Amino acid sequence: MSFVSDKVKDLPPYLFAEFQKRKTELLAKGVDVIDLGIGAPDLPTPKFVIEKLAKEAKDPANHRYSPYSGSQEFKEAVAEFYQRHYGVDLDPDTEILALIGSKEGIANLIQAVINPGEAVLVPDPGYPVYRTSVHLAGGESVRLPLDTKNGYVPLFDHLSAADKKRAKLMLLNYPSNPTAATIHLDTFLEAVAFSRENNVLLAHDAAYDLVTFGGYKAPSVMQVPNAKEWAVEFGSLSKSFSMTGWRIGYIVGNETIVQALATLKSNLDTSQFLPIQKAAATALKSDLSAVAANNKTYELRMEKLYAALKKAGIYAEKPKGSIFLWAHVPNGFTSVGFANKMLDEAGVIVTPGTAFGPSGEGFIRIALSVSTERLEEVVRRIEALDLQGVIE
Ligand SMILES: *Cc1c(COP(=O)(O)O)cnc(C)c1O
Repeated sequence: MSFVSDKVKDLPPYLFAEFQKRKTELLAKGVDVIDLGIGAPDLPTPKFVIEKLAKEAKDPANHRYSPYSGSQEFKEAVAEFYQRHYGVDLDPDTEILALIGSKEGIANLIQAVINPGEAVLVPDPGYPVYRTSVHLAGGESVRLPLDTKNGYVPLFDHLSAADKKRAKLMLLNYPSNPTAATIHLDTFLEAVAFSRENNVLLAHDAAYDLVTFGGYKAPSVMQVPNAKEWAVEFGSLSKSFSMTGWRIGYIVGNETIVQALATLKSNLDTSQFLPIQKAAATALKSDLSAVAANNKTYELRMEKLYAALKKAGIYAEKPKGSIFLWAHVPNGFTSVGFANKMLDEAGVIVTPGTAFGPSGEGFIRIALSVSTERLEEVVRRIEALDLQGVIE
């Protein structure tokens, strides 16, 4: 008899595990593997944030449990950030909740909203956590089609009347992982209108809200008039401030939903370590120049790789945000076939688009998470590849 629940047994295998296993094997053979598969910043956390953590960690008052919903200081910093950056008013006492990273919040929000059998609209391609969380809640993921030829905006018209009717929750993510797609506020206006017309809760994952380039500024769904009636938004310091390991994020928006998540979480966890919340508050209250400096680095890397790929005949839409290039595989290759070729013949790990849903076929995701020098080496290796494809 197995002690493992069906829920866990039925989880899909960890998508990147196979590539990581082969990475270890190749490294053992002395191959200089360059990993562009990991969707996380390589840049360090800004110094002023680390200094604030170090200072607060020394104060015994900070060694106690945090309030369940997060410290007042952190929630007020999130409110102030939304007011300053988006012109949006939020009540820190009722409309904001601290999270132990937004991944935790997304998974638990789905538990707090979805009863077994209920349907969730999930973007395809999209962040794999959405689907697995819906599965763990006993819900059903319904593919939200995205316009692959037109900036990956949602195609609400392509949903059947039956799917529109049974959907309870819809997930969106811009700037997007994996497609690097960005949108303007009108897409959120449409999404909120869809929510209102079809009685669907909208949850926007804004993990890359501040990771943008070339003068583009990502909108917040909360900027849509009356968005709070229909929407919540997740934010994270992981990508913008290079704080993945710190585990700190937040949810804002609809009071009933934020409080439902707070109720669930108060039974599961006791929020994040206070010094981490205080350091994160300092980051959010800063002038964001540290974020701008990191964005410049990502933009330079993106331009370099974009140009090299183009020269090699590998086409990508030039992104305005995120830390990814989402590139077409050359003719004659599948996503997995081309990712394998990149690893076997160039020693470069990229992620096959199908890791993010069936609509990712024909694409690879390349993370901009290594130094310019290493990217120059990637470019040399791509130039040396024979790209005459064979369908496998
Ligand atoms: C990285 C990422 C997250 C998770 O971020 P954490 O706050 O570190 O949990 C959520 N959504 C997307 C799309 C991401 O890429």
